[in-house]
Amino acid sequence: MTTNAELQARRAAAVPRGVGNATGVYPAKAKNAEIWDVEGNRYIDFAGGIGVQNVGHGHPKVLEAVRAQLDNYIHTAFQVLPYEPYVELAEKLNRLAPGDEPKKTIFFSTGAEANENAIKIARGATGRPGVIAFQGGFHGRTLLTLGLTGKVAPYKLGFGPFPNEIYHVPFPSPYHGVTSEQSLAAIDALFKADIEASRVAAIIIEPVQGEGGFYIAPFEFLQALRELCDRHGILLISDEVQAGMARTGKYFSIEHSGVVPDLIATAKSLAAGFPLSGVIGKAEIMDKINPGGLGGTYSGNPLACAAALAVLDIIEEEKLLDRSLSLGATVIERCRGMARRNDITAIGDVRGLGGMVAVELVKDRESKKPATEFTGRVTAAARKYGLVLLACGPSSNILRVLVPLTASDEIVEEGLAIVERSMIEAAA
Ligand code: PMP
Repeated sequence: MTTNAELQARRAAAVPRGVGNATGVYPAKAKNAEIWDVEGNRYIDFAGGIGVQNVGHGHPKVLEAVRAQLDNYIHTAFQVLPYEPYVELAEKLNRLAPGDEPKKTIFFSTGAEANENAIKIARGATGRPGVIAFQGGFHGRTLLTLGLTGKVAPYKLGFGPFPNEIYHVPFPSPYHGVTSEQSLAAIDALFKADIEASRVAAIIIEPVQGEGGFYIAPFEFLQALRELCDRHGILLISDEVQAGMARTGKYFSIEHSGVVPDLIATAKSLAAGFPLSGVIGKAEIMDKINPGGLGGTYSGNPLACAAALAVLDIIEEEKLLDRSLSLGATVIERCRGMARRNDITAIGDVRGLGGMVAVELVKDRESKKPATEFTGRVTAAARKYGLVLLACGPSSNILRVLVPLTASDEIVEEGLAIVERSMIEAAA
């Protein structure tokens, strides 16, 4: 039998350190919310391949759709021989995206590529260079999207210079005392100190920050951003790469606020693990870019489009928007219950939007200083007890729940019991 340790040693010799490694667990098989590693150990999956498995690993409908597509054709390049699955998926996403205006969708492969192209489209459509992003935000690892990403270590460290005309302002975070007014004032200050509003093409925001710590932008803040963008002719881009596709109980998390963005970046759970991303936008804006300005050899791969069409069916048939809301409520209640225990004192905040739930771990509840090492002990203990659990946030002190929305109540409870047990053990 191959062991995890053997594979880890081979990996260390063959793969550079630059790709992080959260677990050292090598899967042999995954089904819905469970994973079995090469040694036969079973895990409950609260990571979902970083928010990619909202419909669960290996959903039969996804497998069936991809197998059927595999028998037809695998790749023709959409710009050479276009194909129906791409067009049909675009039609469906255009209908699902918020707002009454006509929309159009273009596909790529990764979340970073979607964001990168959203910025290209915004710059091309407005003829303006500036982009405003948020501190703590994560938009990708390509050089432009690293420029958008609002966290230096480990992402940006040593990789500059980044494309210019990108500016960061604080993301509102009620838990840490950053109000919506302060964030808006920072944008105002930017217009006075760094770039005039009329040269700003876009503001890009994750309505719920993913890697940044599952901070939820207050809805009135998103509404104020929309108003500000309208006032200055700036486009509003919603990065829904992690928060989209039913994770928060809506197809796109910004829908909770009632705000209609100009452009949406989607990826991750869109195609249940097949590399697919997209930019959905108002048709009038999307069509400002001339033919040849956008695309990519593999962009909108047929197998991935077939998988995504199945994902959209599954979300509807299995009522995963509702499921996300009920699952989120259960997880929040259970974690708040843990916070009331005398032997678990590190839980500073439990927050969530639908099934996108986080537990922020702090040294003490007054100072709210990050309990980074403690969090590392919790995720390590969880792994030992059979749960794949990820941290996020500026100091890696926030546990995040990205369990498949198709997971049964029993599996979710089993996972939460491991979270509880792991926190008690890490505190001892
Ligand atoms: N945006 C957000 C909100 C993300 O969470 C991520 C990935 N964690 C990305 C963009 C980048 O996606 P990818 O890794 O597919 O390039």
